Amino acid sequence: MTSPISLDQLEAKDDFIRRHIGPNEADQARMLAAAGADSLEDLTGQIVPESIRLDADLNIERATSEADALDYLQAVARQNKVFKSYIGLGYHDTQVPNVILRNVLENPGWYTAYTPYQPEIAQGRLEALINYQQMVADLTGMDLANASLLDEATAAAEAMAMAKRCARRNTSMTFFVDENVLPQTLDVVRTRAEYMGFEIVTGPLETAADQDVFGALLQYPGANGELRDPEPVIGQLHEKNALAVVATDLMALLLLKSPGEMGADMVLGNSQRFGVPLGFGGPHAAFFASRDDFKRSIPGRLIGVSKDTRGKPALRMALQTREQHIRREKANSNICTAQVLLANMAGFYAAYHGPDGLRTIAQRIHRLTGILAEGLEAKGIHIVNSHFFDTLTIDPQGNRDLILERAEAKQINLRIDPKGTLGISLNECTSREDVEDLFDVLMGDHDFNVAEIDQQITDQGTTFMPENLERSSDYLQHPVFNTHHSEHEMLRYLKRLENRDLALTHSMISLGSCTMKLNATAEMIPVSWPEFGRIHPFAPRSQTKGYRVLLEELDTMLRAITGFDAISMQPNSGAQGEYAGLLAIRRYQAAQGESQRDICLIPQSAHGTNPASAQMMGLKVVVVKTDAEGNVDLDDLHAKVADAGDRLSCLMVTYPSTHGVYEEGIRELCETIHKAGGQVYMDGANLNAQVGVTSPAAIGADVAHLNLHKTFAIPHGGGGPGMGPIGVRSHLANYLPGHPVVGSMLDMNDQGSVSAAPFGSASILPISWMYIRLLGAEGLRLATQVALLNANYLVARLKDHYPILYTGRNHRVAHECILDLRPLKAETGITEVDVAKRLMDYGFHAPTMSFPVPGTFMVEPTESESLAELDRFVDAMIRIRQEIDKVGRGEWPADNNPLVQAPHSQQDLIDDWQRPYDRQTAVFPLPWVSQGKYWPSVNRVDDVWGDRNLFCSCPSPDSYIEE
Ligand SMILES: *Cc1c(COP(=O)(O)O)cnc(C)c1O
Repeated sequence: MTSPISLDQLEAKDDFIRRHIGPNEADQARMLAAAGADSLEDLTGQIVPESIRLDADLNIERATSEADALDYLQAVARQNKVFKSYIGLGYHDTQVPNVILRNVLENPGWYTAYTPYQPEIAQGRLEALINYQQMVADLTGMDLANASLLDEATAAAEAMAMAKRCARRNTSMTFFVDENVLPQTLDVVRTRAEYMGFEIVTGPLETAADQDVFGALLQYPGANGELRDPEPVIGQLHEKNALAVVATDLMALLLLKSPGEMGADMVLGNSQRFGVPLGFGGPHAAFFASRDDFKRSIPGRLIGVSKDTRGKPALRMALQTREQHIRREKANSNICTAQVLLANMAGFYAAYHGPDGLRTIAQRIHRLTGILAEGLEAKGIHIVNSHFFDTLTIDPQGNRDLILERAEAKQINLRIDPKGTLGISLNECTSREDVEDLFDVLMGDHDFNVAEIDQQITDQGTTFMPENLERSSDYLQHPVFNTHHSEHEMLRYLKRLENRDLALTHSMISLGSCTMKLNATAEMIPVSWPEFGRIHPFAPRSQTKGYRVLLEELDTMLRAITGFDAISMQPNSGAQGEYAGLLAIRRYQAAQGESQRDICLIPQSAHGTNPASAQMMGLKVVVVKTDAEGNVDLDDLHAKVADAGDRLSCLMVTYPSTHGVYEEGIRELCETIHKAGGQVYMDGANLNAQVGVTSPAAIGADVAHLNLHKTFAIPHGGGGPGMGPIGVRSHLANYLPGHPVVGSMLDMNDQGSVSAAPFGSASILPISWMYIRLLGAEGLRLATQVALLNANYLVARLKDHYPILYTGRNHRVAHECILDLRPLKAETGITEVDVAKRLMDYGFHAPTMSFPVPGTFMVEPTESESLAELDRFVDAMIRIRQEIDKVGRGEWPADNNPLVQAPHSQQDLIDDWQRPYDRQTAVFPLPWVSQGKYWPSVNRVDDVWGDRNLFCSCPSPDSYIEE
């Protein structure tokens, strides 16, 4: 008899670490043997340069079980107090339709997908996004809209930059901002303007064209609820060749004349109140619409209609080549990760309610606000704004403290203005009882009754909006907004779209640099807790204790992992982190009396967001060469540093490099920059190859961003949300962003902000907190080591079939590797695109294509893929190599073979089959493919046609009818 197993041993068997990490111990041993290493430690030693290796364990607690971590976090969440929030300022409580909550927000089929770069396997979310674009274009009255930006404030900053690009005949460097703009918007715009060299002037909306300006930002309705007509001033701006940007509210536009009808050039705002939880500030999708003339200057991604090889309409990201422009001066912006999941939710909200349902919601909000206003006025309370949609600003006339006391007692939050007025913004969740409560709070004793006032308004025909601003134009007439109103219809529509997309629920998505790891269910569960979801970003400190505990604990964890001294959670994407980090550097250098430092060195291999962010910070980008091994060319670096002299501001470097290797010279690189008085910015997108093994601070960086949606398990959401907090060394800590509304309350720095909300997309931070707690110090390090193992195992199995472009010490790669497809293309004419599309027939998403080297694949398996899944991928790639060889040998014609015809659809099979290869080869090329066949819903999409015939609204249903 074997000896009984102890409780410790039994408990150790049931841990999250084993479930997060794909290969079990036996598999790891097999893979190590294949890769030629004795152990994980041996492999790590072979790969990571000794000079940067950490010698101590991470100062992070041991792993916790899923149940314990959730229990603990639940207790933390309960320290938040969910008050009724009437604060407004761009954030309003909303009723997330449950069918959308469960089947989109809580559904890995939606949230684990990647940005739809491969349209044939992304038609579902592309349709959801074009619905969203159509909704925004309809409601704003504009020609077209993009597929979301990060938040309203940064969207306004983008609009300012775009206005400068587009107002070509205007030489002014001044931008006007309406004094009734949201305070967080003004602050972000100011921060952005400073380093773009723009001057900001503010004043009443009507005065926008009084000075020489290249553009103006007008808020409609204003932050205090006032409804002023922007049309006259838009006309005046146009007479001066200046552009008019209108920040607005989609709910209000259901009843108000659209900015497009008034001649606005760009329209933006936040779609949060269309069914996306408040979440203490995010994530939400900002919208951005423009006139057709400016479509090629729009920041962010644009979904457009094209056709597939059968001539069937098919959706795709339009103008994708523009994304390459991010690399150089042509950048429209640095936006990469946006807010796709939330844009989808807002679009579905509109599809579910339809135009009538939405109008009813808006009318109800407006009527309740009218009732409130009538009651207050009858009691003699002065309402500052004479017209309104949903927001009243009142003068409390000495009763301010009393009112706030009563509000607190009833668990109600009002907007408290610096000038002493109070604001109330009603929302979709507001009921009659809530308005009665507001009467109690605002008036104390009274005898008003909602039903009576309602009757009075009806009888007297009282209106609260200026007649000329009432909406008369239609919206949302497309069938997609008029079909899915019953829950069954909606459920099936959501499922139908989901089924068109390939996500992590199907197979490995080995996109290099994107780190598509497991997004564990336990990590996702807290996201939908109301204690995290229903908190307004400007709620008083006393109600957000839970969030602060979460933030502080995550801050401690991230400091332990990065070795940095301070963290800012404000940036809501990696690219925003870059911007915030460079901002900290420039602020620090200015404080040292060195504002002349304006040169940013960037290696050739850098991600496109790096130069784009540098440019936004007014830095001059100087490119440093890479050598034949893919490393930064140190000679060239020294030369460029010398050339820059005392203008050197910083170096932006990714580590391990985007070439997938740990450069040996990284220490020297950092020292060179420091000696020359510069700072080192580390792009932390590849932190998955650092955690527990090395750290940005150990390497010598001064600041780095962390893509929590890569390394720390936040799902990619089909192209967002993300979070890009930055870590800094102590000398930069005072230059981290602050916040204009709540900064002082939350002990933040007294510096301009970079995002609308103080902690960016706070409500997804529990995911990263859970990830770190569940893995603990030992699991985090193991994850890194297995990420290295998985990549090196792929290399061991694939290197005889595809050349591996770059390797580091001991001919090892880091956590990702580049497969060079260029020689095959030269020999056979089969391109990287053909291989990418052919992988779909095998049920795989292509690896990252043509970044950082054109004509290559960058493969990053991550630690959470099992040996079986890696082997399936390898088998597919090997079989594809054999297929390419057949083309090379002339067994299949170059223009008719499974590669150039890929991907294959079900339609292909039912056609008369006249191809030189059989149907089996086409759609079931390996035995296991048929077991869970994923069918691309369209054939190959024509990119060029789509860009030439740019069309970014919902196609009419007729266009789908087969001829
Ligand atoms: C993903 C990535 C970025 C940009 O991050 P976002 O979160 O998408 O803005 C920057 N650099 C590298 C190397 C990346 O992989």
